[in-house]
Amino acid sequence: MTRSVDARSYDLDDLRERVLAEHGGAVDDSIPQLASADPDLCGLALVLTDGTVRHSAQADVPFSVQSAVKPFLFALALLDTGGDALDLIGIEPTGEAFDAVKLETGTGRPPNPMVNAGALLTGALVDGDDVAARDARILRGLSAFAGRQLDVDDDVAHSEHLLGDRNHALAHLMRSEGTLSVGADDTVAVYARACAVLVDARALAVMGATLACGGVNPVSGERVVPTDVARDVVSVMATCGVYDGSGRWMRSVGVPAKSSVSGGIVLAAPGVLGGAVVSPPLDEQGTSVRGRIACEALSAELDLHVFGSR
Ligand code: GLU
Repeated sequence: MTRSVDARSYDLDDLRERVLAEHGGAVDDSIPQLASADPDLCGLALVLTDGTVRHSAQADVPFSVQSAVKPFLFALALLDTGGDALDLIGIEPTGEAFDAVKLETGTGRPPNPMVNAGALLTGALVDGDDVAARDARILRGLSAFAGRQLDVDDDVAHSEHLLGDRNHALAHLMRSEGTLSVGADDTVAVYARACAVLVDARALAVMGATLACGGVNPVSGERVVPTDVARDVVSVMATCGVYDGSGRWMRSVGVPAKSSVSGGIVLAAPGVLGGAVVSPPLDEQGTSVRGRIACEALSAELDLHVFGSR
């Protein structure tokens, strides 16, 4: 069966208008910079495997990437450790909140790289002897995924580092288990800076498309990670990317994704497209309310469900 609507002619501004009519959810208030986000920001972008970029209004409004960085941190950790990261971090869904202060029973490993414990560890596993070197390596890697130079919002990074008590607790817990070999505070600093990288829907969609294209950025043409790394990352997005809402997400949207507290969602539909939506009001599981509705509509109208009829 062919897709009912071609992504090339899909009207993303019309979808934006439709989802803007929804008013549920609440903006995250864990740091002041997120609490003051515009609840009516709404941007969408799709990037096809041939590099075609489609976007709505507000697809160029910057926001901090937050947890939508986690798939890409995992990719960089897999790359820099030659795959050893897969021995150090689990890949099972948790059914718990993103910041649960809990490790795998018996192993002391983080349960998966899409929750905070795992993302703290992936940030610590990338190449670099200190915070500045790991930060620079991550920014270089994320920029390659996006196909353009990305920057860190220093105020957001500072707040995340200062106010991320559960992240500090997780880093200390991993130190005590012997899972984390670098300093706990340095680990939180690197993770805070990764969460504070500024993207927009268009850049985030290119990042998703790079995963959907097996690790090759379809806009720049650069191979960013090997095919097996992209496959591993997208597999874990499918099972763990929407935290304790991952099962419901796979049923209703059916596209591997990662949500974030800034209201961004990155999509990777393998071999088809990458996508991103941003709208700050969140549901109880930390997923953008309008983002979910938009992704459900995109999936249905573009026939994207990986277990669908196509
Ligand atoms: N920076 C946030 C935290 O670590 C990210 C969480 C999220 O986006 O879901 O608490």
